[in-house]
Amino acid sequence: MTAQRRLLTAELLSVGTEVVVGETRDTNAGELGGSLTAAGVRVTRITALPDQLDTVAEAYRSALSRVDLVVSTGGLGPTPDDLTREAIARVWNEEPVVDPSLEAWLRDLWARRGIDFPSMNLKQAWLIPSAVALANPNGTAPGWLVSGRDGQVAVALPGPPREMRPMWANEALPRLVQLGLGADIASRTYRLAGIGESQVAELLGESLLRSTEPTIATYARAEAVDVRISATGRGDRSAASLVEESAAVVLEHVGRYVWATGTTTWSEAIGLRLAGLEWTVAIVEIGTAGSVAALFGDVPWVRFGESIAADAPAARVHGVPASDRPAATEHETDASDHDLPRFAERARELGGSEVGLAVRTQARAGDTAVSIAIVTPLGARQVRRAVFLSGPMGRTRAALAAAAVLLESLPRAGHDGSPESGSSA
Ligand code: ATP
Repeated sequence: MTAQRRLLTAELLSVGTEVVVGETRDTNAGELGGSLTAAGVRVTRITALPDQLDTVAEAYRSALSRVDLVVSTGGLGPTPDDLTREAIARVWNEEPVVDPSLEAWLRDLWARRGIDFPSMNLKQAWLIPSAVALANPNGTAPGWLVSGRDGQVAVALPGPPREMRPMWANEALPRLVQLGLGADIASRTYRLAGIGESQVAELLGESLLRSTEPTIATYARAEAVDVRISATGRGDRSAASLVEESAAVVLEHVGRYVWATGTTTWSEAIGLRLAGLEWTVAIVEIGTAGSVAALFGDVPWVRFGESIAADAPAARVHGVPASDRPAATEHETDASDHDLPRFAERARELGGSEVGLAVRTQARAGDTAVSIAIVTPLGARQVRRAVFLSGPMGRTRAALAAAAVLLESLPRAGHDGSPESGSSA
């Protein structure tokens, strides 16, 4: 007699003494929280619990009194301190029994390796009448999906992430969706560069940022300022159409700063643009401690990369002609970076790449001056920027500035793969 009840709220339980004492970092709950939120479920609490039957049973009982869905990870192993099944059975007031098909599956796992089946593992074949088993192709612990009289649902997943993730995605989520998981929600994130969070807020205006349906929020992240639009469907308006409508307004105000959507990284955005052009990049960076290479990561489109210390005799590197001015010192205000395009050009030759990028940073009164030279088949340009802070933080920001200038310098490929002039991010 299960009542129809949409699963709109959830709590997560991370079972395991090792999690409570800090031996294991609780990554499971965060991943499940993200997945449930994306499915339109409001996650209201995450709790870590030691391997104690009373504590786990009480946590399940009280969570089920507050929310529609409780998902736990851990405690499904064969040993006496793996108590999640016992806890759920106690809350449901049902007796666990060995399920014949689960028992046959388990015994076969051992038989295939020619080992005697340890009777301790028999409890992994347990079920209670209200539970269905969730298959575990990566371990010996099946999960449980348990339906309550009032339509609430409990899901028990194994602790090891490599078992938990596929069981969640392939076994639990599809069943929960059938039961009615989450509200109709939609969201879109625009990633902005070249503008600070407060300026974004100013451009969007208070009324937009205060509106609750859809919600528009700004986030200052390391790589970008993100503007996230999210909506819940209501009446005859779907969440997607509400987001679409708001997105048009947001783009009107800040569209010129948008370089990507979602969680796209600089490296991904640049890689995508280069793939369209069938171009690659060669990089020389000076005084950056390799921060440009670190930002891009191990990507196939970087054909040559070199990091040179700020005080190295750079003029002799790879035959770039000596600068006719002495190298700038840390305290100089006018960067002598007129030789930088030659580094970009030389890198391009060495990498056999279409694009050459040269970046030089210098500390400037607590901040960092960054000079960026780019050579592409369409021409050369040089840009100077001052970024906030010096040291590693300044160098990271300098690399982000270089990424922004690089992306801006890459034309979008036309349908025939040829560069379309005049269009950029
Ligand atoms: P098993 O069948 O392996 O015994 P189990 O469900 O009993 O599975 P636990 O014994 O609680 O799981 O945990 C096994 C391992 O899974 C831990 O040693 C840890 O590496 C990992 N793990 C457990 N809980 C978490 C968690 N919340 N986040 C990340 N990893 C976890």
